[in-house]
Amino acid sequence: MSSTPPSGTSSRQSTRSSRTPHEDKLVLPLHDDLKDSDPHLELVDTHCHIHSTFQTYKDKYPDGKLADIRTFVSALLQADGSNKLAACVDVYCEGSDMDHWASTLAALSDFPDLDYRFVAGAHPHEAKNYSDELERKFLEAHKHPRCVGWGEIGLDYHYDNSPRDVQQEVLRRQLRTALASDKNKAITIHTREADDDIVVRNLGATCSPSDPSGLRILFETDAPYMPPANMANKQLGMTSKQRFPFAHGGVLPWTAEFVVKVLNEGKGDDDDKWTTVGVLKQARENARRCYGV
Ligand SMILES: [Zn+2]
Repeated sequence: MSSTPPSGTSSRQSTRSSRTPHEDKLVLPLHDDLKDSDPHLELVDTHCHIHSTFQTYKDKYPDGKLADIRTFVSALLQADGSNKLAACVDVYCEGSDMDHWASTLAALSDFPDLDYRFVAGAHPHEAKNYSDELERKFLEAHKHPRCVGWGEIGLDYHYDNSPRDVQQEVLRRQLRTALASDKNKAITIHTREADDDIVVRNLGATCSPSDPSGLRILFETDAPYMPPANMANKQLGMTSKQRFPFAHGGVLPWTAEFVVKVLNEGKGDDDDKWTTVGVLKQARENARRCYGV
């Protein structure tokens, strides 16, 4: 048999499959920094798109063994010995999400160890499709007790998938609706290259590893997008050519590890240092305060 692939398409496919690890590698082993930690340490993903993550899995692993969204979440986010999530805030922000939110919620809301919550609202990409009908669907979702906020709403001038004036009008309309609902829910803002129109105040406050309460940080994966770049292939049983194919809640400790590295920059040997567990604990408290999870 010739070793030359019969066509360019097969060549691309084989390259792609060689870069995609076996699906068993998707269940991430407990991060080294968490191995000796407090058993009560709780990981909370405050922003993820679980339905899209499952769709991404099905695209990348067409013959994958995880047949439905509940099995998928159970395997990747609830497995013993992995970086198991205690809570998550799922995001329903596209018009199509409003077609499945109730069934997704029904499938995911009764895990014994996962506090499943969600936010709902129109992403700025969707602004051009906003309508009274779509708003009615969002408001219907907001009646559910597991709905903890509006989001992700905002402005995105990088992609400009909707005209900017339409994005602004839809953002104003959703903010007015959120405030009028008087439910004191969180608002998750998406902003990209819109700094002139969305002012981000410096939320820094005095904090230290021994008194971390001023660390105003929340951790999120935005799954399936952007797995952390510091996930070491060797440690995860992947070849050097492979890439972790999508983010999910189990990657959070790598994000925390990166944050700790930044926080500890410039510290000397004798200085009080941040730890992965320390920032995750503070983020867990912050998630409770922001979203009630
Ligand atoms: Zn998102």
